[in-house]
Amino acid sequence: QPHGRVFNFSAGPACLPVDVLEQAQADMLNWRGSGMSVMEMSHRGKEFQSIIDAAEADLRALLAIPDNYTVLFMQARGGASTQFSAIPLNLAAEGDVVDYIVTGSWSKKAAGEAKKYAKVDIVATGDNKSVPDPSTWNLSADATYVHYCDNETIQGVEFKAAPAVGDKVLVADMSSNFCSKPVDVSKCGIIYAGAQKNIGPAGVTIVIVRNDLIGNARPITPVMLDYAVQAGDKSMYNTPPCYSIYMCGLVFAKMRAEGGLDAVLAANEKKANVLYDAIAASNGFYNSPVDPAVRSLMNVPFTIPSNADLEKEFIAAAAKRGMIQLKGHRSVGGMRASIYNSMPLEGVQQLADFMKEFAAQHA
Ligand code: PLP
Repeated sequence: QPHGRVFNFSAGPACLPVDVLEQAQADMLNWRGSGMSVMEMSHRGKEFQSIIDAAEADLRALLAIPDNYTVLFMQARGGASTQFSAIPLNLAAEGDVVDYIVTGSWSKKAAGEAKKYAKVDIVATGDNKSVPDPSTWNLSADATYVHYCDNETIQGVEFKAAPAVGDKVLVADMSSNFCSKPVDVSKCGIIYAGAQKNIGPAGVTIVIVRNDLIGNARPITPVMLDYAVQAGDKSMYNTPPCYSIYMCGLVFAKMRAEGGLDAVLAANEKKANVLYDAIAASNGFYNSPVDPAVRSLMNVPFTIPSNADLEKEFIAAAAKRGMIQLKGHRSVGGMRASIYNSMPLEGVQQLADFMKEFAAQHA
């Protein structure tokens, strides 16, 4: 690989496109004749303003974000996890009922945090391998919003369409599949995502919020989490994560130039199929625990059911070949290949070839 790079299958922070990193390197000491690195610029200066404006414009074009939605670049100290608190604080009054669909670890965590601020109803609980049948969901008649996680990073369970919640405000955690596919933003009241998987380095959390949901924060809401304050100051109430926003901007511009999110989705489907096909072709040597209808295009967990000891060997042998971070999350074990937008097809093919070779040696 160029620059002696490995294929990095980490769940995040994850790999970035090589040409974006090269651009950042070229810009490092002197961004476009400004005589400064982006890291050294005032966030109030015209240079940084042009960077954040371009990033927002490109993201709006990519996701076709309607005009009645505001894009916030929020500080990620606490990351998308901070939104687990910001959402109930901004949307729900004390005592309000809020619905949570739990399909894995992250939606469970989001619900746990919301309990501090609102009356949480868990309206559906998955088995960590599938999405429960929508006909069994017990949506509350008076819920202020319904929260779900579009892609469970640890379990590899991904919704293939936004859940139908009637006229309720839908809140989507898209941290691990943001900008991996086109989405109909108008189906959601809020979409939020940490940057460090598909779009840039850790440090910024994107919040796309419908304008009528802004301005209802409880008085105790920390000022930094108040969407009205962040929107009013155009994500510059205080110093924003300037460099992370700049890097996200480079990634957005590249995605737009290369055909937008339809092209991204086609590439992601192709990559995921290579791995799921390799699992299926192994005659049971490898197993994907997830219901085929909701298998994630981003995070592919798999096991070696006949002999879990071989999993460690697999992970170590892959690392020796320059394919790193294939260990499953510590809470579930096994292996997990995270194949975000920036993982090249070549990396996935190399992994599939290695899986075949390893199975032949150990079957
Ligand atoms: N939600 C999902 C789906 C995630 O995968 C993660 C992190 O992996 C988070 C939330 C938390 O993100 P952060 O680490 O930015 O708080």
